[in-house]
Amino acid sequence: MKKGVVYIVGAGPGDPGLLTIKGKNVLQKADVVIYDRLVNKEMLAHAPDRAELIYAGKESGKNAFSQDRINELIVQKASEGRAVVRLKGGDPFVFGRGGEEALHLVEQGYGFEVVPGVTSASAVPAYAGIPLTHRGISSSFAVITGHGKKGTPICQEEISKGIDTLVFLMGMENLASIVEQLIANGKTAETPAALIQNGTLPEQKVLAGTLGQIARCAEETGFGPPALFIVGDVVELREKLNRVEKKPLRGKTVVITRPEAQADSFGETIIALGGRVVKLPVIEIKRKTDLKRLCKIFKNIDAFDWLVFTSANAVEIFFDELVSENVDIRVLKGIKICAIGPATEAKLRQRGILTDLVPDRYCAEGIVDALEERIKPGMRVLLPRAQGARAVLAEGLREMGLHVEEIYLYEAVVPLRIDDEIVEKIIKGCAEIIIFTSPSTVSNFVDIVGRKHVKQIDSKTKTACIGPITSDAARKFGFTVDMEAESYTINGLIDALAAMQ
Ligand code: SAH
Repeated sequence: MKKGVVYIVGAGPGDPGLLTIKGKNVLQKADVVIYDRLVNKEMLAHAPDRAELIYAGKESGKNAFSQDRINELIVQKASEGRAVVRLKGGDPFVFGRGGEEALHLVEQGYGFEVVPGVTSASAVPAYAGIPLTHRGISSSFAVITGHGKKGTPICQEEISKGIDTLVFLMGMENLASIVEQLIANGKTAETPAALIQNGTLPEQKVLAGTLGQIARCAEETGFGPPALFIVGDVVELREKLNRVEKKPLRGKTVVITRPEAQADSFGETIIALGGRVVKLPVIEIKRKTDLKRLCKIFKNIDAFDWLVFTSANAVEIFFDELVSENVDIRVLKGIKICAIGPATEAKLRQRGILTDLVPDRYCAEGIVDALEERIKPGMRVLLPRAQGARAVLAEGLREMGLHVEEIYLYEAVVPLRIDDEIVEKIIKGCAEIIIFTSPSTVSNFVDIVGRKHVKQIDSKTKTACIGPITSDAARKFGFTVDMEAESYTINGLIDALAAMQ
């Protein structure tokens, strides 16, 4: 056998979460990825940066790449001794011509490994709330191509009568004729039927009705490929089992402006609520490189009564410095520690510190109020924080007679690299919601998109803010604030988004 190996991998039906673990592992080691049109491009991010990505998609009707050319391309890349991933929509051996590609490789003396994928045939109906089989309703299903040769019947009697659930792939072009043949061969016009377009993706659309009506409805509503056609009594279960379309952020695009590192878990929650995420990190946390003053402070840290953290970033950097300066954490013994909110508190906990005080309101004003009962004038407070943060905290504490020492650990700067394509889309109003998690996310966002575009964005896109201070900043720049978290936390924001109609 020749040396190149080709992995024929199923990418699943669209939702990037439906790629298998094995598929992801193989992609992570790929030198070349040859992918099809229905493959979700997000999955290509699993491939290493060095990987060559080749689009070999076929538009229905006009072939960008003939099958012969694809076969040759795969062999050519394999012959270079590189790890080739042939990434195909759904399962590669279900109407994907994966079998043909595998045969060609074998004939040419190359090895291949198939990594099965989640086929659209079952996953797309599942996301639409339709199980293919159901006790008492359907005990068999068939997956059929709707793309038959002209004049060749697609649905003979044995298919029409003998099987409970019929799933047609590639059936949009011949929909009317498929319906006609089904009825002519014994299915009644009242049989429940559904079309599902872009299944498992945020744009998923479903048209459910009866066999008799569906082709006309599809034409009226302009239903088009990629779509799957499903026929059978199981379609009625959708009324009770359809969950995806009821998710609160369904089909909505949400812009996250948080720094890249903090955007992931937030993004996952938005996706779980049915939304689509666009990341435009408008802030980059730039650590101060010269922290000599902090090192000096470490030596006399027992002079402080309170240590107040106003961000998780500050906790991270403070404790990293403690370690890198070889300072034992026990120097903090006896100092009271305050965190502005739950995320900062959680970060402290990760460092082994249980916080003494978290205010009721997670903002600078909240800290001032909460500390008032806990301090005596003359006490000393250390405030490790971001450069450019609001002055109200230090001022408020000083007004209560405290000695406040501020130390800047980092700066929230505008990232050097900005994705212009995303900015363009936001200006055009392609997103439904934009999220601001601090006043600096607002001001940096405005710097990036340009002040003159704020009005246009605001007219098309809703604004959600983490709390009143951020909302004030957003209003100052001309945004209408549509949502505000009650608890001034990311979870509070998510609750506000989930409650949105
Ligand atoms: N190998 C693939 C099928 C390839 S044929 C699989 O196992 O899923 C392509 C057809 O699959 C499309 O014409 C459409 O009928 C169906 N299909 C694929 N992805 C789909 C999706 N996300 N929503 C609806 N239909 C889809």
